[in-house]
Amino acid sequence: MHTVEPKVFLIGETRIVEEGLKEYLAHIGVPDWMSDAPTDAERLVEVMGRLCYRSFKPGLNSNVTKVREHNADYLANILSVKHGSVIEHPVMNFVFADVSRVFTHELVRHRPGVAISQESLRFVRLDDLGQWLPTVIREDPEAVEIFARTFEDLERLQQELAQHFQLDAPGTPFERKKIVTSAIRRLAPDGLATTIGWSANPRTIRWVLEMRTHKSAEEEIRLVFGKVGALVVARYPHLFGDFTVEMADGLPSYKPKNSKI
Ligand SMILES: Cc1cc2nc3c(=O)[nH]c(=O)nc-3n(C[C@H](O)[C@H](O)[C@H](O)COP(=O)(O)OP(=O)(O)OC[C@H]3O[C@@H](n4cnc5c(N)ncnc54)[C@H](O)[C@@H]3O)c2cc1C
Repeated sequence: MHTVEPKVFLIGETRIVEEGLKEYLAHIGVPDWMSDAPTDAERLVEVMGRLCYRSFKPGLNSNVTKVREHNADYLANILSVKHGSVIEHPVMNFVFADVSRVFTHELVRHRPGVAISQESLRFVRLDDLGQWLPTVIREDPEAVEIFARTFEDLERLQQELAQHFQLDAPGTPFERKKIVTSAIRRLAPDGLATTIGWSANPRTIRWVLEMRTHKSAEEEIRLVFGKVGALVVARYPHLFGDFTVEMADGLPSYKPKNSKI
């Protein structure tokens, strides 16, 4: 048994294919169009938005006589008029590590605009359980001791059952290991540390950030999405810059000017 702290890693993000964008801009007659977007994600949203009205420059569409010049203004307008579908184009790829199954079960309730890969407890044997303690437990030495003892007992059960089924005997087929590992995980705690890969578009991230850092949400998901909030606001200022942060019970709560776009 070991103690852990939930961690957030941003491991990927959408990239523009420069040659393709150049060819498209030439095709519609604005080969010199440039954006001052700080990231490819924000530039991509701008391109996808502008193509709707041909608003790359005045006159490209005879109905359009002026256009917003800067990526910041352009995206701020998209957010304020709630053209949420335009910000679905980019994707950000996260790994949430040392999070509990309490957290992952809450996370997967958010359905649109996500891709999920979760550590398989059919395949991964639980012979060393990781534990993160919520504040109410951490502040109570007796509760900490009960948690530690119970985790150790449950870990020992996993090891005993693995021995009982002789999973480490030479020649035990992988299929057999899988069946037993999957069966005995039923005796593992919901709070065990595990890993989930979560990719989402900014429309979804904005919504989950708002919902799951609210002070009424569960402490672990608040902790994790507090970290997500700090990352995305710093990295994609024009997609997340309308969020303000307040501290509530020691954790950040992210509130957008434009809710649920
Ligand atoms: C504080 C808190 C407490 C909670 N307590 C419980 C609980 O006790 N029990 C429980 O079961 N769940 C609970 N939940 C989960 C909650 O009910 C939602 O399932 C979860 O937050 C997903 O959010 P969402 O409904 O906005 O859907 P998401 O999947 O995040 O979808 C985002 C938005 O897309 C739209 N959308 C998505 N799917 C559809 C659809 N099929 N049809 C129409 N529109 C759609 C909706 O506008 C939705 O808000 C809780 C959540 C929070 C934040």
